[in-house]
Amino acid sequence: MLLENTCVWRPQSLAELRARLKQSSTGTIQFLAGGTDLVPALKRQGRVPELLVALSQIRELAGVKMSPTKDRLLIGPLTKLAQLSREPLIQQHFAVLGQVAGLVASPQIRNQATVGGNIMVDNRCKYYNQSEVDRHSHGGCFKAGGAVCHLIPNATRTSAPVCRARFVSDLAPVLILAHCELVIEGPQGERRIALKDLYHNEGLYGARLNAGEILTRLEIPLPLVGKIRYEKLRIRQAIDFPSLGVALSVRDEGGSEVLDVCLTGVDTRPVSLTFRPSQFATRDDFWQNVAQVSKKSVVPLKQDFFPPQYKREMIAVLLKRLWEGN
Ligand SMILES: Cc1cc2nc3c(=O)[nH]c(=O)nc-3n(C[C@H](O)[C@H](O)[C@H](O)COP(=O)(O)OP(=O)(O)OC[C@H]3O[C@@H](n4cnc5c(N)ncnc54)[C@H](O)[C@@H]3O)c2cc1C
Ligand code: SF4
Repeated sequence: MLLENTCVWRPQSLAELRARLKQSSTGTIQFLAGGTDLVPALKRQGRVPELLVALSQIRELAGVKMSPTKDRLLIGPLTKLAQLSREPLIQQHFAVLGQVAGLVASPQIRNQATVGGNIMVDNRCKYYNQSEVDRHSHGGCFKAGGAVCHLIPNATRTSAPVCRARFVSDLAPVLILAHCELVIEGPQGERRIALKDLYHNEGLYGARLNAGEILTRLEIPLPLVGKIRYEKLRIRQAIDFPSLGVALSVRDEGGSEVLDVCLTGVDTRPVSLTFRPSQFATRDDFWQNVAQVSKKSVVPLKQDFFPPQYKREMIAVLLKRLWEGN
């Protein structure tokens, strides 16, 4: 019933997929990877694409390898999160990525969910990620095709952003600090963008590719520029999305430490910040500055158990723990 007006197609190779993407008559396309985010979304939305392309048979899109020049890690977007945690090349060159993959959801979901799906995961909101019955009880909001925001009642279609559904990928902040680049293919050919440029300050669509475009590879330049670490705030140690995720990379700049930070779970997109401790006379001054800047840089709303102000305060707490706990 759900997909009665949708053509579901399972190409066997990238070449087969490329040939079809070049046709102009494909209609609206959506790519299905592990389906852990998309399938529930299709059920909720009632808006289905004309063509649903199931990627699972395209072997070229899965797995991790080294570039021929040995200076880049190449990650297939169809690589499962569970596989990422076990992958020897990841353990050797980017161990924190495997560890963070192990913090996502539950073992069952990690066996199904993919890296590409994780960085493209839809923004979430307590009013949107609900059953049809629940949504019907208070009426559809902007993200569900309605004309109101239940979280910010005075928001309008011209607000920027229209919707404040939050970005929740655990992998994205760590990949952004590793200067991850995406290879994207579509009707116009191949293009590359930095992962940090994939995201928009808009909860309606946190990450969006152009029509018919597919992510075919993630590339990580090696060696990593700084030492990257990650801490996740959540109620339970399984299943829960990050109420706040803090990724930290510490690098050297002319003999002084620089802290590059990327946050998830507290805004419509990953939020990047940089701190230079050497610019402050004392550690106390530095941490006061970190707390002030962090609080001003994000707009968490009441979306889960933790109050927004608590999440703001926890940014500096988790950062301190990451930096001083090494
Ligand atoms: C109960 C539950 C708990 C969760 N907890 C967490 C958590 O703690 N942390 C976290 O980060 N995430 C969490 N998630 C989200 C989960 O990680 C993502 O759902 C998962 O990684 C998505 O991967 P997927 O392969 O299932 O993507 P899909 O659901 O198949 O796709 C997701 C989106 O990505 C697009 N997409 C996928 N691959 C490509 C590609 N190659 N090119 C173009 N577009 C593509 C799809 O079109 C779709 O829009 C949770 C999900 C559930 C259901
Ligand atoms: S923030 Fe977005 S998803 Fe949440 S109620 Fe408002 S419009 Fe809907």
